[in-house]
Amino acid sequence: MKITAIKAYPAWVGFRNQLLVKVETDEGIHGWGESGLSGRELAVQGAVEHYREFLIGRDARNPGALWQEMYRSQYFEGGRVLTGAISAIDIALYDILGKALGVPVYQLLGGKQRDTIPCFATFGGGTTEELIDNARRLLDKGWSVMRTGSTSRPARPAGVFEPRESIGPTAERLTALRQALGPDPVIGIDYHHMLSVAETASLCQRLPPGTLDFLEEPIRDESPEAYESLRTMVDVPFAIGEEFASKWQFLPYLERGITQFARIDVCNVGGLTESMKVAAMAEAHYIDLMPHNPLGPVCTAATVHLSAAVPNFAWLEARVSPTEQLQAHDEELFPVQLQMEGDRYLVPDVPGLGIEVDEERLAGQQFKFWEAPHLRRRDGSFTNW
Ligand SMILES: [Mg+2]
Repeated sequence: MKITAIKAYPAWVGFRNQLLVKVETDEGIHGWGESGLSGRELAVQGAVEHYREFLIGRDARNPGALWQEMYRSQYFEGGRVLTGAISAIDIALYDILGKALGVPVYQLLGGKQRDTIPCFATFGGGTTEELIDNARRLLDKGWSVMRTGSTSRPARPAGVFEPRESIGPTAERLTALRQALGPDPVIGIDYHHMLSVAETASLCQRLPPGTLDFLEEPIRDESPEAYESLRTMVDVPFAIGEEFASKWQFLPYLERGITQFARIDVCNVGGLTESMKVAAMAEAHYIDLMPHNPLGPVCTAATVHLSAAVPNFAWLEARVSPTEQLQAHDEELFPVQLQMEGDRYLVPDVPGLGIEVDEERLAGQQFKFWEAPHLRRRDGSFTNW
């Protein structure tokens, strides 16, 4: 079964760009994949075009071998742009293989270990009362795993973020939230790598023990050594890895006991081929996957198949919940999507990923240049979003 075409579609869907990739074959079977390098989609599109040059004519049924060739075919191997492209193509190849063999993708990954995929919800609130109300809404609907974000005192000018000023109010809100909900719900916070090592330690010192079940990305991840230092100062489990672009980036975080949940993103790390290897490395360290899943239905489908096939799994990020309805899951563009039942995705039993994309409609969607917020501290210096 030869690859005959690879098409990249960077397109604005709902509230963000998505980069979807379609791989076609000479047997009339096609597959879809998605790349996760949000904000720099055109760079990934360029990488897809480079790979297309030598992938046309290749046997589509060998994603593992094609992964090696894509990753190692340039002298300057690796990096997020390249693995974003590899991820999308690899996912599409699994979609094709599943359709060709008449089996769901999880069957190609060793079969399913669970029938449903438990999820966590994201929520916020303008005030502490609203935050608690939203958490109770989740609990009432059966969602017991939830993640919120940081907050700052009012009167923060637009475009300004002062990390230190967020610590006190965020600690107060988290403490009140845990007091209100009791010991049972799982509560996490995503700090979106906006703190330093010292600021993270200060935040955690302001929290009573048992407040948080996980702290997601308090600092940037370029330096495992910085995280290693932080690990000695803080006893809250970390959830790290959504930006990692290979098994090699996960390696120090797993081997050195730095992260306690693997926030793997199948659309960034190198597709399903690489995800299964990271899952095995994490399993060897008794670390569960908590996959990052903020993109569209293709990413969700690939991640659900991964989540079904691994033994070491905690919760999948769901951006459709009683507190969120992200429009990226456009039903006209994606006429067949994975279904949810309460706080979990159902594992589909149809061949391939179990999604369909309206290609004509997708081709008509415009790409829009978009920048993540460029935040500054009060003194004018740049700080992380
Ligand atoms: Mg995150």
